[in-house]
Amino acid sequence: MKHPLERFEYCPRCGSHNFAINGVRSRHCSKCGLTYYANASASTAAIITNSKGEILLTTRAFEPAKDKLDLPGGFVDMNETAEEALIRELKEELNIEVTNPIYLFSLPNEYTFSDITIHTLDIFFKVEVSDDAKFTADDDVASAQFYDLKDVNIEDIGLNSIKKAIQKIKNTTN
Ligand SMILES: [Zn+2]
Repeated sequence: MKHPLERFEYCPRCGSHNFAINGVRSRHCSKCGLTYYANASASTAAIITNSKGEILLTTRAFEPAKDKLDLPGGFVDMNETAEEALIRELKEELNIEVTNPIYLFSLPNEYTFSDITIHTLDIFFKVEVSDDAKFTADDDVASAQFYDLKDVNIEDIGLNSIKKAIQKIKNTTN
C-alpha cells in the first residue's frame, strides 16, 4: 500500500519541504514540529430491504464509479454520529425519512477523489422501510430501485467495500 500522504510534500502549517514520512500514516515537519496524520474518513451505507427481501441499490451519478451500482449513504460530517449521517444522506439522496438504523458491520475502503486516494471506514446499517415508501433519486444518485440479489452481478457494483458488503449479504441469504 502506498503511504496515504505520499502526494503531500509540504507542511500544511508552515509550507516547509522538510515534511518527512513518519510511520505508516503520518508526516512530520522538522521546521515547525507538526506531526500530521492521515486518518480513515468515516462513511455510511444503508442496506434497505423490502418485504420480498429485495435490496435497494442506487446508480452513481458522478465519479468515482459513475453509472455503477452502489448503496445509498455517504460521508460522516464533523460532529455527527454515523446514524445521523446515514439518516441525512438517505434524505438527501432518496428523499426518504428513516429512523433507527441498525449497525451491521464495517469495511475499509479506498476512494479516489481529485486524483488522491482517500481511505475510508464504511459503516453498514440495516434500515427498514415500508413497502409503500416513496423514494426519488437526488444529489449524487442517478436512480434507485429494488433488486433481487440473485440478479445482481457483483462486477456491476462500483466500489470495493460495497462489492464485499453485497457479497457478504448474498452469502448469508443463500
Ligand atoms: Zn511545518
